[in-house]
Amino acid sequence: MSSEAITSFENLGLAPEIMAAINQVGYTTPTPIQAQAIPAVMAGRDVLGIAQTGTGKTAGFTLPMINRLMKGRAKARMPRTLILEPTRELAAQVAENFDLYGQNTRLTKALLIGGVSFGDQERAIERGADVLIATPGRLLDHVERGKVMLRGVEVLVIDEADRMLDMGFIPDIERIVKLLPFTRQTLFFSATMPPEITRLSEQFLQAPQRIEVAPPSSTNKNVSQTLIEVAPMSKRAALRALFDREEVTNGIIFCNRKRDIGTLLESLQRHGYSAVSLHGDMDQHIRLKMLDEFKSGSAKYLIASDVAARGLDIPNVSHVFNFDVPSHAEDYVHRIGRTGRAGRTGAAYMLATRQDDKYVQAIEGLIKLEIPREELPGLDAAETDKPAAKGKPRRRKTDAKSDDPSPTGGNGTDNHAGRRRGLLGRNRRKTPNNKKPDATPTAEKSQNAKAEKTAPPPRKAKAQSSDAFDGNMPDFLKKQIK
Ligand code: AMP
Repeated sequence: MSSEAITSFENLGLAPEIMAAINQVGYTTPTPIQAQAIPAVMAGRDVLGIAQTGTGKTAGFTLPMINRLMKGRAKARMPRTLILEPTRELAAQVAENFDLYGQNTRLTKALLIGGVSFGDQERAIERGADVLIATPGRLLDHVERGKVMLRGVEVLVIDEADRMLDMGFIPDIERIVKLLPFTRQTLFFSATMPPEITRLSEQFLQAPQRIEVAPPSSTNKNVSQTLIEVAPMSKRAALRALFDREEVTNGIIFCNRKRDIGTLLESLQRHGYSAVSLHGDMDQHIRLKMLDEFKSGSAKYLIASDVAARGLDIPNVSHVFNFDVPSHAEDYVHRIGRTGRAGRTGAAYMLATRQDDKYVQAIEGLIKLEIPREELPGLDAAETDKPAAKGKPRRRKTDAKSDDPSPTGGNGTDNHAGRRRGLLGRNRRKTPNNKKPDATPTAEKSQNAKAEKTAPPPRKAKAQSSDAFDGNMPDFLKKQIK
């Protein structure tokens, strides 16, 4: 059956219990990755799925896995399927999906993630778990303690493989795969395919069906994209102007640096916007609280770092604001993918200074689209560059995660503003009446001064930890970690 022909979950061969669950959850049409992956997995084939989060890939592998598991029985300490996830939050999100889709079955799972006591996890394995959903490190801990045997694994899922690579988990994955039977079904998902991931996929998969639902460089057509040209010192004013003019249900604001998240949060709160923040250094409980406030609507804005927000599954985000232009073009795709999920529309704005030219160029090269430019009245980039141009020119650091001392979002200032016209100069529209705007309103100036004082000292860049917040935390897990 060709995937184009699949417009319903009927005829995929899924058990009635699963069909009932799909109905209960309210899905009517398989997403493109589901339409292609479900038949392939049901046919027992290995799958190489190139798909981002938000495409419905979790159900793409979970539904046929449940179908297979229903035909056998769990054995103590010998799980029949294994799902590897890079972070505990993603693992918890998948576990939640497994419960949802398996609600009419008696299948059991064990969620093996860090930050939770070994005892409960060991008991779940001991009782016999049909599926293990695990982060690599914690799974290996259990293996070393002799509590779990992987010889019975019939289906292996490696999810978010490129993320595993980023987080340094590939050696762990290779160790784990050596413990599995050679004859097994392997489903391998990755948003991008860097050479190392291609190598791994060739090593782990046998004659896989390659499924690519959207090239990793593509952005969702449901998301309108706009680039706002702005001077570094006017970014916060520009953001507020956008908030006031747009019909924002809720929005995620991305900053490149953790320290800027705090500064921006303080600024927005002071201006009366209900905002919370998320970044990888936060304590788990605080992150959950922040996310809950955003999801429940009590906070309208969430300020986040790339690490914190990747994989975040919040279906109704109306807007994404790039407070900084990301230095890695792929991050732009991931960021704006937080809106326009599950067929909804969304809007993405990016504040760009002239110093961002080369990063904007890289993004546009990747997405093969020139992002429409707009200037906000009173915030003309060329004019407002002037007050910021005093002193030495600062160069933007190339590492998006580095700490930049600039209180403006770290894109530096340009004292060659009059001479230099980069990419941002294309399609420029003049500010009406050639009005010279007040680049930095008084309130903003005093805030900037305060922000500089209150900003925490630069932290040393640290390796991403598996703590990186990456998804929703289901209630059952919240109870476990209380
Ligand atoms: P994922 O990419 O697996 O993280 O899924 C993204 C979101 O899409 C989740 O909120 C799912 O509940 C939702 N979803 C998955 N499959 C479908 C479907 N067939 N129809 C509507 N929503 C879906």
